[in-house]
Amino acid sequence: MQNPQQQFAEHLAWTSDSPLGLEVDRAVGSYIYLKDGRRIIDLISGIAVSSLGHCHPRVIEAVRRQLDKHLHVMVYGEFIQGSQSRYAAALTKALPDGLDVVYFTMTGTEANEGALKLAKKATGRTRMVSFENSYHGDSHGSLSVTGREVYRNPFLPLLPEVTFLPFGDIGALSAIDDTVACVITEPIQGEGGIVVPSAEWHQALRKKCTETGALLIFDEIQTGFGRTGTMFAFEQFGVVPDIITLAKAMGGGMPLGAFVSSRETMNAFRTNPPLSHVTTFGGHPVSCAAALATLEVLTNENLPARALKIEQQVRDTLKHPSIREIRGKGAMLGLDLRDAELTAKVTKTCLNDGVLLGWTLHSNSLIRIAPPLNIEEDVLNMALRVILMALKENA
Ligand code: PLP
Repeated sequence: MQNPQQQFAEHLAWTSDSPLGLEVDRAVGSYIYLKDGRRIIDLISGIAVSSLGHCHPRVIEAVRRQLDKHLHVMVYGEFIQGSQSRYAAALTKALPDGLDVVYFTMTGTEANEGALKLAKKATGRTRMVSFENSYHGDSHGSLSVTGREVYRNPFLPLLPEVTFLPFGDIGALSAIDDTVACVITEPIQGEGGIVVPSAEWHQALRKKCTETGALLIFDEIQTGFGRTGTMFAFEQFGVVPDIITLAKAMGGGMPLGAFVSSRETMNAFRTNPPLSHVTTFGGHPVSCAAALATLEVLTNENLPARALKIEQQVRDTLKHPSIREIRGKGAMLGLDLRDAELTAKVTKTCLNDGVLLGWTLHSNSLIRIAPPLNIEEDVLNMALRVILMALKENA
């Protein structure tokens, strides 16, 4: 009988030659407990997923209650399933008018796939605009609008008629015209290196889309649900998208995604042909129950505001000459060390000392910090001290 390490090595597909390979026993709050007896502080939340920490009791309770009722009963969109409808009503209440109708998916990339198809069908147009260094997921449609050639090139040809513009450049927006079905962007780029564009750029983008009839899609898969200091990042830029895509933190640790738009736009999927976009598992009832509990905790405990306190604590504590810049908003932060070797060493030292940090797909000199939004102040402080020590040791 193989042990779990051997099974992992021999029977699971690897996505790199050097996976972290930590063997998890259990995870509670801001801690992950490993089989070897170590306890590590989680400063990356499964890449911006565990915003309530691991196994939040309200989420577990909601999951248990739904387990006693039913699991999957029918493909998406046919039956009225209480946990799904209740959550859709609560979610749209947290969003502005015009984002009133939810289409549930399982994952982030699937949410973007649906949003892109919806934009094509609702506008009758085919061109798409995206931005350099963006990341929207790894299925073919989402990869087609992901702005990094190194990830796109091995899979060419992808979707045609996609134009990439420089992110945050107001002048470049003139390329958007009335042949464009949609413009897709993260309001703050995550994998591209935690890049925050100006409110002026967001407003110019909104204006251009309104003038040309191109639908504006905000991919808030990473920025959503309080991570950047407001429930959704767009609130900070004074603009509202035509379609928002969500996933990651949405399900409180259960898999769930969605794209949300107006009834008028969403109606494009109802006819010509009917069932023009279907999914079996989208909006799984257990995930929706977990998501409703998650949204209630985020709101009742005002966790978006807590994200701003985390930002302050990180900026106040992490002062070291090797940190060139701390980018980002709220609890979506990147420490730019501008040195790949130092970044790798610091990350490794921290892990050995019990702190799990993140990386971004497109940058090897940026340390990502995205802790649970309810991480205790003293636990965060302990973790930040470990980072400072690691910087001192390796600088
Ligand atoms: N969009 C953004 C902004 C993301 O950060 C991610 C994942 O990191 C995705 C889409 C893809 O989500 P998923 O991995 O759930 O398909």
